[in-house]
Amino acid sequence: MTCREFAEFMADYLSGELPPAQRAGFDRHLAVCPTCVTYLRDYEATIRIGRQVFQATDTPVPDAVPESLVQAILAAREREQG
Ligand SMILES: [Zn+2]
Repeated sequence: MTCREFAEFMADYLSGELPPAQRAGFDRHLAVCPTCVTYLRDYEATIRIGRQVFQATDTPVPDAVPESLVQAILAAREREQG
């Protein structure tokens, strides 16, 4: 397996959809290619960050934040800044 093939299969590998034969080749390449080890690690980190952002935007935001809470937060901020 070449680095180019490795990169093409990386998403399938991480999602567990890679056929066993290709997965074995993938693991062999990982064992001998530090560049792709780093690449895979960066790729995983990117996916993790992406998921976190997605979850953050997916979290339901309360329709109405109580006005008293908003005022309390603003007052606290002003105290910190003052
Ligand atoms: Zn490689």
